[in-house]
Amino acid sequence: MVTISCSCGAVTTSRRHPLLGLALADRLALVETAFAVEGGFLTLEADGSWHPGEPDESCVVLLDLDAIDAAAGLDEDDARRLRSALHLARSGGRMLPDEVARGRLRLRARPADTFRAQVTYVVEDAGRTLLEVTAEPGEPSLLDALVAAHDRFGADAWARVAAVARRASSRGRLAAAIAGLDERAVTAA
Ligand SMILES: [Zn+2]
Repeated sequence: MVTISCSCGAVTTSRRHPLLGLALADRLALVETAFAVEGGFLTLEADGSWHPGEPDESCVVLLDLDAIDAAAGLDEDDARRLRSALHLARSGGRMLPDEVARGRLRLRARPADTFRAQVTYVVEDAGRTLLEVTAEPGEPSLLDALVAAHDRFGADAWARVAAVARRASSRGRLAAAIAGLDERAVTAA
């Protein structure tokens, strides 16, 4: 079952979806340009014809499929290839960077739970979330800047990064702002 949800709040489910009947190559092409891919799930942006009722001009319609729906109708070899493609995280058609480990810390990027192809960067310590920052679509990866902030400030890094991220002026250039945080500290020292 596929979930169809819209930025206006409309939600419904469907048994049909755009991958049905397509060959593996065409499905993989849709995965590569998908709105979001994460942990075996695929989110596709759909046109207004999928909208429950009449869409507004501002409506963003998303279709959420699991790996079973996405691979329906493929033979076992093709289904396996499709499933493995659904475990490489993407947002807005871009591949997201691999998780980085620093001791017990895990720094990772995942598609944000929004209708705007944003990316959420999460820092966890043994499953406890220390930082969650959401970057605008198309922004360069924040992971390197976050790792550098950690290496420079240790446990203090996350409060500093969160403060920078809250500032509206930083939106769209968060990686530079986080890297700049590091430089200023070096100069002051
Ligand atoms: Zn809508």
